[in-house]
Amino acid sequence: MADPFKLLVLPGDGIGPEVVSVALRVFERMCQLEQIETEIQHDLLHGAAWDRYGTFCRDETVVTAKQSNALLVGAVGGAKWDQLLIQSEDPAERDGLMRLREELQAYACLRPSRAYESLLARTPFKPDVVAGADILVLRELCGGLPYGKPRGIDELEDGSFQAYDANFYSSEEIRRFAVVGFEIARRRRGKVTSIDKSNVMESGILWRRIVGEVGTDYPDIELEHLYTDNALYQMMQRPTAFDVVIADNIFGDIASDLVATYAGSLGMLPSASLQGLDSGKPAIYEPVHGTAPDIAGQGIANPIGAILSVAMLFEYSMQRKDLARRIESAVVKCLQAGVVSADLGGQASTDQIGEKILSVLD
Ligand code: NAD
Ligand code: MN
Repeated sequence: MADPFKLLVLPGDGIGPEVVSVALRVFERMCQLEQIETEIQHDLLHGAAWDRYGTFCRDETVVTAKQSNALLVGAVGGAKWDQLLIQSEDPAERDGLMRLREELQAYACLRPSRAYESLLARTPFKPDVVAGADILVLRELCGGLPYGKPRGIDELEDGSFQAYDANFYSSEEIRRFAVVGFEIARRRRGKVTSIDKSNVMESGILWRRIVGEVGTDYPDIELEHLYTDNALYQMMQRPTAFDVVIADNIFGDIASDLVATYAGSLGMLPSASLQGLDSGKPAIYEPVHGTAPDIAGQGIANPIGAILSVAMLFEYSMQRKDLARRIESAVVKCLQAGVVSADLGGQASTDQIGEKILSVLD
């Protein structure tokens, strides 16, 4: 008999615990229906961990994470902890989630977004412009600006300050990441758009060169390079012209929030952060959104991004695409039935959406 599937649940802060509890119910129900044996552990991360343990991510949490098959994370952060001045040049010490991403080397972050027929009118687009949009932003997650060193805020002799960050990338980091982009494009519609600012950044020049080199191994995939500013403009003008968009850590972060507009709300977007495709290594599944302090504690957060992250877990950590499609179609049925949360103009609570999706799964 196969080993039980080991899941580590880290609800995090703000609306994190609200959406994760619903997504976890979907995970458990599916495993029960499919007789998949699981071993589930729970832990605290970031703000919740700081308040209990005085650290954003305990060493024990990292050990457990490395022994797990997958992590289900809510979101982390909030004004209370964002303002803490941690004296460290190391971003991983200032952010529990960034530490886990780095420790697990979960460098390829898949962030799909699409237009839903029943939500077209909820998007900022004319329905015919966005209908059919189906994009995957692949964000590099272990390098670039968020981790780059040197970084700092220095006081100058005259009492003024200067601040700096480094968008550091090695050719190997770019290469391993680009490979995932081309491999995913093969499973989708065969197109890669790489975005960079090679017109003004050294890291962009290397980025474009290495992505181009990797592209020669994939003659079946159409490769397009765009400057990031123009790319974001095109993504709003012609949402259906894109398939896989590959971007560094910062541009990928920005692009993925932007394409959430196709789905009508940031609360709809899931993610999977992998150490390469099909590596079998521990992967992180989490909604793209943050902790939404403006609506936290009200039970009205949209849990669909978290639920679709569970679908991605079945697809990428269990190789069960069939179960991923079942969850996705349950989500579509829920939307079609008009059971939607406030961010989409509806009145359904987080739990009511969860109940609806569970009842469709049954
Ligand atoms: P946010 O994503 O939390 O919220 C942006 C907007 O989208 C808000 O209006 C919010 O109400 C709405 N929203 C987000 N998720 C929603 C959901 N599931 N349902 C309904 N509405 C939703 O971004 P922010 O306000 O810029 O950041 C808040 C905090 O979250 C900050 O501390 C930030 O650092 C943190 N953050 C964490 C992550 C992460 O853990 N991966 C990602 C982004 C931001
Ligand atoms: Mn973001």
